[in-house]
Amino acid sequence: MTDMIFASQNGRNIPKEDPIFSISNRAKDMLQKEGKEKVINATIGALLDDDGNLIVLSSVDEVFKNLNPSEYAQYAPIGGTPEFKKAVQKDIFRNYVPSVFTEAVATPGGTGAIRNAVSNYSEYGDKILTTDWHWTPYNNIAEEQGRSIEAFELFDKEGNFNLESFSAKTKKLLSKQQRLVIILNTPSHNPTGYALTDDEWKKVIEILNDASTDKKITLLVDAAYADFAGDEEESRSFLPLLENCGDNVMPIIAHSLSKAYTLYGLRCGAMICMAKSREAAEEFKRVCEFSSRGSWSNCARAPQVILTKIYDDPKLLQKVTEERKEFHDMLIRRGIAFKEEAKKAGLKTLPYRSGFFMTIPCDNPKEVCMRLEKEGIFLIPMAKGIRISGASISEAACRRLPAAIKKAMEQK
Ligand code: PLP
Repeated sequence: MTDMIFASQNGRNIPKEDPIFSISNRAKDMLQKEGKEKVINATIGALLDDDGNLIVLSSVDEVFKNLNPSEYAQYAPIGGTPEFKKAVQKDIFRNYVPSVFTEAVATPGGTGAIRNAVSNYSEYGDKILTTDWHWTPYNNIAEEQGRSIEAFELFDKEGNFNLESFSAKTKKLLSKQQRLVIILNTPSHNPTGYALTDDEWKKVIEILNDASTDKKITLLVDAAYADFAGDEEESRSFLPLLENCGDNVMPIIAHSLSKAYTLYGLRCGAMICMAKSREAAEEFKRVCEFSSRGSWSNCARAPQVILTKIYDDPKLLQKVTEERKEFHDMLIRRGIAFKEEAKKAGLKTLPYRSGFFMTIPCDNPKEVCMRLEKEGIFLIPMAKGIRISGASISEAACRRLPAAIKKAMEQK
């Protein structure tokens, strides 16, 4: 694209309109014209109730409303308040106490953590490795910083994690680059709902240890949906395994308060390293805080105080966890409903375990989505299929969708 007026392209491919938001806007237009009953808007990446309203954890909201000005008005330190740094580590690690060196740096959502990891652990022109099915803003984050995305196949023929493809791409990129950042979004992968098993994790770590003899690998675990993948302790069982990473592999967890605390708009998250040496952990803190200073400076203080208060009060923490579980269970029911109906309709789906999204492999996703839009069904076409947000539609809508999608796919 060369039709910039004042702005510079700088090697980026900037579309005229964000594709997801434009579909979502069409859904909103139709809803206004034709009424709620005529529209299923499964495009939104936020948890909505059956009537399409944003779900907000009332226990978290109460803490927010009771903050006093000194708790939100002043600047927070660049890397986050010391109390937040402790609380956010508890939030990600829970009962597991790491024996590696950890440091936390506050970021504006998980997005900021991904951005800082790319800027510090890869070089200009590098490829960042991730799964073929992935959250598309990874491309923006890479491109914005003069990097690009290379993908390996997430699934093998049996629908398990494709270790072969992962290993081949890791080796290929390391034969050309000094460093490699790998992004794995698990559990509750966006867009498929997949989660690596502990066995798959062990093999991933073996592959990385073998491949990294004289080069550095940063394993960025995008855990934005960690609290929507079944039991909150069990879904974290992979974390201790990360201690088996060799000296040349550093895991970083990208954590987010957007979904788990329904604080999407307050923009809070963190990046947490699990380093083998104190030097690597201290370097992590120094370089990531430098990047923060040069992009958003410091993060909002209010959500940092909210998380600190929650972790300072066991009863409050229990209340938040219980409230979240209700919504988590609702999400699982929607996923099960979709899977059951897909089976009945003979609609092939990708292996869904939990989370906000389900996906259908499809050769002509744009066409099928356009056909469905005429019926008032709004879904997101992706490179190799269609994404459905179970988070934003009712269980009844989840039951309706598979037959409608199947019909649209068969239409000539
Ligand atoms: N990673 C994935 C896979 C996501 O889907 C999202 C949000 O939709 C994020 C990270 C980051 O979200 P936030 O920056 O709001 O924490």
